[in-house]
Amino acid sequence: MPKLEEIVALCKRRGFVYPSSEIYGGLANAYDYGPLGVELLRKIKELWWKRFISQRADMVGLDSQIILHPKTWEASGHVTAFFDPLVEDKISHQRYRADHLLEAWLQKHPQTPAIVVEDLSLEEMQQLIKKFKIKSPQGNELTEPKKFDLLFETSLGIIAGQKSSAYLRGETAQGIFSNFKQITDSTRVKLPFGVGQIGKSFRNEITTGQFVFRTFEFEQAEIEYFFDPEQSNWQKLLKTWQQQMWDFVTKDLGVRAENLRWRRHTDKERSHYSQDTYDLEYHFSFGWKELWGVAYRTDYDLKQHQKFSGVNLNYKDPQTNREFIPHVIEPAVGINRLFLMILTDSYRQEPERISLKLPQALAPYQIAVFPLLANKPELVSKAKQIYTELQSDFTVYWDDRGNIGKRYRYQDEMGTPFCVTVDFDSLEDQAVTVRERDSMKQERIAISKLKSYFQKQP
Ligand code: ATP
Repeated sequence: MPKLEEIVALCKRRGFVYPSSEIYGGLANAYDYGPLGVELLRKIKELWWKRFISQRADMVGLDSQIILHPKTWEASGHVTAFFDPLVEDKISHQRYRADHLLEAWLQKHPQTPAIVVEDLSLEEMQQLIKKFKIKSPQGNELTEPKKFDLLFETSLGIIAGQKSSAYLRGETAQGIFSNFKQITDSTRVKLPFGVGQIGKSFRNEITTGQFVFRTFEFEQAEIEYFFDPEQSNWQKLLKTWQQQMWDFVTKDLGVRAENLRWRRHTDKERSHYSQDTYDLEYHFSFGWKELWGVAYRTDYDLKQHQKFSGVNLNYKDPQTNREFIPHVIEPAVGINRLFLMILTDSYRQEPERISLKLPQALAPYQIAVFPLLANKPELVSKAKQIYTELQSDFTVYWDDRGNIGKRYRYQDEMGTPFCVTVDFDSLEDQAVTVRERDSMKQERIAISKLKSYFQKQP
């Protein structure tokens, strides 16, 4: 398991992720995705969309706004109940999440009787901080935990001179609920069906230092799967969704099952409207952490939006004409957490090299093409011809700098599965050397067979 610092260093070195606004000294909890990172992010989103939307008859997509009507967030409960427990270092005024400090302390003191930090109220956290004499990471006294709002507030200036408060969305899910009626009115969907969307969400996170695992601005891929509780058994549906999430992570993203586990939320920890919630967790170097949550949210959200909007959000069964508010199961994942998991899981440190063992479908570039020497026009033009031809079916990287060994190392760190080298023999025998990333084996392949060779690869 690579350390987080090793992943951060590789990301910066090869252009996966950069600290945001670095020329201005950086900005905590904000990162930019470089040329390789943007490709990996795009491929994760494409795979998710293909698996959960395009390939299913019971799913449709949506792209709702980041700024929704402010009432949305009153209805959803975010305005009153979307907060983190904040404590402050009394000397440095540095802020921390009380639950995270408690978790860190408990990890260092494993002999302490088990405490489920997620279950604790603000008062209980304060009692434990006092009892265990927990200090800030700088060793100073802490203030009492208080609520810290996670929603980012902004103001709209639609009417000159007047401003009204609005929020950047804290999750994409509420846009699905507020469009429920328009979707059922405008499409042929029938229960059970799901609506999925991928988009940016924003949270005013206090905890720093978790790289892209926890940022202010992140991308979510959320699904609301609506069903009739009289026709579908929610326990069965929840199990099916758990299986689909597991399969996506292990099969599509190629992550090792031993680094994954399910954690069921306790009764106290679960949101009041949810009847059952599970987190799919990944074993990051900083502990088992939530990757993807799935919750049975009953009919709570649609009922709330019906109450706050005054609009009837009933679904009418086309067979029986029975009208009712559907129930919902919500699988919600952060694309950036999938990204960090994929890099962590594929990272391999060997004596001679570091490589990313990425599946073909995720590698930012599937093939790299090199002329053996950059100053031999006949090699360059042959290699360019191959590069252009392969580009119609694959993502291909061009490199003619430095010696071949260095170019291989570079591609290994990018996770490129295959390198193609055009040498002097290629001009005679119309064949090239293909080198595979994981085995480092080299094979001579005829140029005319290259495309079909790569198409056959798993
Ligand atoms: P955590 O307990 O880690 O703060 P959460 O329980 O608040 O997460 P949810 O509200 O369930 O998270 O959001 C759904 C998904 O969105 C999470 O499983 C996670 O993958 C992702 N996510 C949530 N907050 C962030 C963040 N600040 N940065 C990146 N991804 C996030």
